[in-house]
Amino acid sequence: MIRAVVIVMHDKIAELKELISKSRRIVFFTGAGLSTESAIPDFRGSAGLNKEKTPYPLEVMLSHSFFVQHPDEFYAFYHQHMLYPQAQPNAAHLKIAELERQGQVLAVITQNIDDLHTKAGSKRVYELHGNVNRNYCVRCHHFYDLAAIVKQPGIPYCSCGGIIKPDVVLYEEALDEKTLLAAVQAIRSADCLIVVGSSLSVYPASGLLRYFQGKHLVIINRDPTDYDQFAEIVLHESAGFVLTQV
Ligand code: NAD
Repeated sequence: MIRAVVIVMHDKIAELKELISKSRRIVFFTGAGLSTESAIPDFRGSAGLNKEKTPYPLEVMLSHSFFVQHPDEFYAFYHQHMLYPQAQPNAAHLKIAELERQGQVLAVITQNIDDLHTKAGSKRVYELHGNVNRNYCVRCHHFYDLAAIVKQPGIPYCSCGGIIKPDVVLYEEALDEKTLLAAVQAIRSADCLIVVGSSLSVYPASGLLRYFQGKHLVIINRDPTDYDQFAEIVLHESAGFVLTQV
């Protein structure tokens, strides 16, 4: 039985290898699961943040109104659970960047805020939910990088006295329109869409999949997703394991 499962997996990886080798307009759509192998926890995986005991649900603690009303609790949570300044790209990030250098990748669309695609060398990255490396003062709009946030425990303040806010999309906030349009455009033009490490349960990001008009949808995710039924290849495996073999 175990042998049969391994053979099926090898067949699927071989199929994916073949598909990637002949695709010239690949779009990667990535989520928090891509970065668990860089030791950044996801939300809904087996060791996800939603298994942690938090005073309020994640959707509340990471909401715009919570940031405004309880900035101290917001930042205590944010510092402890969302910032990983030492994290480095893993084999999967590096493989995606390598495929882009080879001219096969149109774009990377990511829900991640950890900056690891850019650190890995990917150039056309659409960050749907922003990036922890960008932060701005809500009063004077002066920009700060991640180092400036990390070195101020608690609520980070600007020299003008305003609170600094991470340039990440909190629950209740809208996605940046330009980024969203660019992502839709990329998905529409793709011949192959590869989802990696996303439960595809966060909207509106996962709704972007419906713009895909190409032939080949691939899902590489440890747990099943609602979109598995529409995919040509589904691999419930680790991203690093799969992508280092293609
Ligand atoms: P999610 O937590 O909802 O789902 C992650 C999925 O990845 C799970 O289904 C899990 O089975 C799978 N997974 C975990 N490790 C994997 C691995 N090594 N290989 C393959 N699959 C793996 O994540 P989501 O769909 O991205 O939605 C979560 C939201 O939280 C996003 O909006 C994102 O912005 C944010 N978030 C980002 C980070 C980050 O930037 N690294 C981390 C946590 C949460």
